[in-house]
Amino acid sequence: MRQSPYLEFKRVRCKDCYRCLRECPIKAISFADQHAQIIEDRCILCGRCMHVCPQNAKIVHSELDKTRALLYEGGKVIASVAPSFVANTGYESFEPLRQQLKEMGFFDAEETARGAEYVTLQYAQLLEKGEYKNFITSACPSACRLIQEYFPQALPYLAPVASPMVAHARLIHHEHPDAKVVFIGPCLAKKREAEESGEIASVLTFVELDEMIRRFKLGRPESSTQDLPPADSCPNSQIVSCSSNIAKGYPATEGIIHSFTSLPNGYQYLSIDGPDRCMEVLENIEHYEGVFMEINICPGGCINGPCATLPKGGVTKAKTKLFNYLQQGIQSYPPANSNLMDEIDFSYQYPRVTNSSRDVSEAEIEKVLLQTGKTTPEDQLNCGACGYRSCKGKAWAVINGYADLEMCLPYMRKKGESLAVDIVHNSPEGIILVNSDMDVVDANATAMEMLGMSGSAEHFTARPLNDYFSSLDFYLAYSQKKNTEVHRQFIHSTKRYVDITICYMDEHKLLFGQMKDVTEAVNYQKQLEHLREETIETTDQVIMKQMRVAQEIASLLGETTAETKVALLNLKKMLQQENKKEM
Ligand code: SF4
Ligand code: SF4
Ligand code: SF4
Repeated sequence: MRQSPYLEFKRVRCKDCYRCLRECPIKAISFADQHAQIIEDRCILCGRCMHVCPQNAKIVHSELDKTRALLYEGGKVIASVAPSFVANTGYESFEPLRQQLKEMGFFDAEETARGAEYVTLQYAQLLEKGEYKNFITSACPSACRLIQEYFPQALPYLAPVASPMVAHARLIHHEHPDAKVVFIGPCLAKKREAEESGEIASVLTFVELDEMIRRFKLGRPESSTQDLPPADSCPNSQIVSCSSNIAKGYPATEGIIHSFTSLPNGYQYLSIDGPDRCMEVLENIEHYEGVFMEINICPGGCINGPCATLPKGGVTKAKTKLFNYLQQGIQSYPPANSNLMDEIDFSYQYPRVTNSSRDVSEAEIEKVLLQTGKTTPEDQLNCGACGYRSCKGKAWAVINGYADLEMCLPYMRKKGESLAVDIVHNSPEGIILVNSDMDVVDANATAMEMLGMSGSAEHFTARPLNDYFSSLDFYLAYSQKKNTEVHRQFIHSTKRYVDITICYMDEHKLLFGQMKDVTEAVNYQKQLEHLREETIETTDQVIMKQMRVAQEIASLLGETTAETKVALLNLKKMLQQENKKEM
C-alpha cells in the first residue's frame, strides 16, 4: 500500500484505538500490525484523523525545506497567502506579513483572494448561462476529491473552475512568467492539489509558516530582530497584493456566496459544510434542482482547516477576525480586471478518480460475517467499535486487506469469554462459586463430580454448600472478606478428600472455591501409617522374643559355668590330697 506523501501516522505513537478510523468520513485508514496507516489513494486529506488522534500520532509532511531550497535558488518566488492568515498568524493586516515574507527571501507576496475574485467572476459567467441543474463550487480540494472519487453522480455539477489558489497562480504567472508560486494557507489538501495542478511550486501550512518565521528570526543578528517596517514603507505598496476585496471572505462558510456582487437568478444559494452533510447532499444530488452549493469539508470553512492555528476562542473568534478584516479592506477594493478573463484561462477540468479498493460480492461479505460469529442479521450489531459504521462495512475492509477480523470488539469479547468458560469448565480442578447464603451457585464439571452433584454444569441450579461439606470456612472467608489458605474437607457422599482454597470476590460478592482432589494421596498416607504401626508392633514382638531367648541362654550358661567351677575345684582338691599322701 502506497504511503501518503502528505500525511501519515507515527507508528510508535499509535495505540490502535480506531478513533481516527471512526472519524474518517470515507474510511481511508487501514490497520496493519495494530497501527493506523493512511490509504493514500482513498484519502481526501480532510485532516479529521489528525485532530481526533488522542496520541497526536500525526505527521504532516513539511514542505519547509522545499520552499527554502526555492528561495536559495535565487529565482522569483512569490507567495500566495490565504486570507485566513488574519485568524492564524497573529498578523492583523497583510502588509507586515508581506514584508516579513520578503525579508525571508520571497520576491513578493499577494493575497490568494486576488485569484478568488476571478473564480467568482467565472462562476457568475457559468451561472448566467443557466445550463447547470445544480452548481457545486470547487474551492475546497477535499470536497472536489470527494466528488471525483466517491460521488461521480455529482461530477457533472462540479464547476469546471480553478480553485482560488490555482487561479491566483495563473494570474501571477501571467504577470511574472518566470515566477515560482508558494501557496500559504490552512489546508492540507492544497498540497496534493498543488502537485496535481503543476502550477504551484510548494505549499506551506500556517504551522509551517510559523516555524519558518521563528527559525528566521532566531537566525537573524540581534539588531535586526526589531519590529518590521510599517505597511506604508513597502516600496511596492500600491500594487494589487496590498489591495483588498470581498473575495477575502472565501475562507468562511457562505464566503463564496457573499463574494458575488449580485447573485445570478435561477438558483437557491446554500452553504454546506462538514463531511457528513456534504456526503449526504452529494449522495442525493439528483433530488435537487436549481441549487448552488458552496461546499466545504471543514466545518466552518477553510478558516477551520486542518493546518489552521486558531486563536483562543476557536473558529468563532477566527471568523470575527476575518470579518473585521473584510470590513476594513472593502473600502480600498479594486475591482478585478475583467479583461484578464479573456487572457487567462481560469477553467479546470476535474477528472474522475478511482482507487485500488475492489468491489466485493455479498457472498464474500457473508463469509467474513460468519467468521466473526455473525450468523443472523441480529448478530450484526453495527456498533461502530471497529471504526466502521456497519458490520458489512468492516467485512468489506477485511476483504480489501484494510482491517483484521480481530478488530470486531464484540466478537473478540465473546471469543475471550467463551475461552475463559472453556478453561474453567475443562479445568482438572474443581471450581465452585458460593454466594452470601452459602449456596453453590455455579460449579464446573470436575467440582460436580467431586461433590457427587447431579445435573450438568451448563444448566447448573443453586444448592446449599452444607449438603456436601461444612460451609464454615466459606462463611468465615465471606464475613471477613478474606481469601483463605488451603483447607481439607471430606465429602461423605463421594468419600473424597479435597483441598480447598477460597477467594473472596468483592466486586461480585461471591466466593470462588478451587478444589483439588487429594483422595489418593490421603489414602496412600493412611496406608503408610497403617503399615508403620504394623511394623512397630511386629518389631516390638521380635525384640521381646529375642530378650527372652537371651535371658534363657544367659541363665543356662550361668548354671553350666558354676557346675564346671565346682567340678574343677573338686578335681584340684583331690589332686592336692593325693600329693600329700605320696610324701
Ligand atoms: S487515533 Fe488512530 S492514529 Fe491515533 S492512536 Fe488511535 S488508532 Fe492510532
Ligand atoms: S485525512 Fe481525512 S480522509 Fe484522509 S485518512 Fe484522515 S480522516 Fe480520512
Ligand atoms: S459488531 Fe463488530 S464488525 Fe460490527 S460494527 Fe461492531 S465492532 Fe464493527
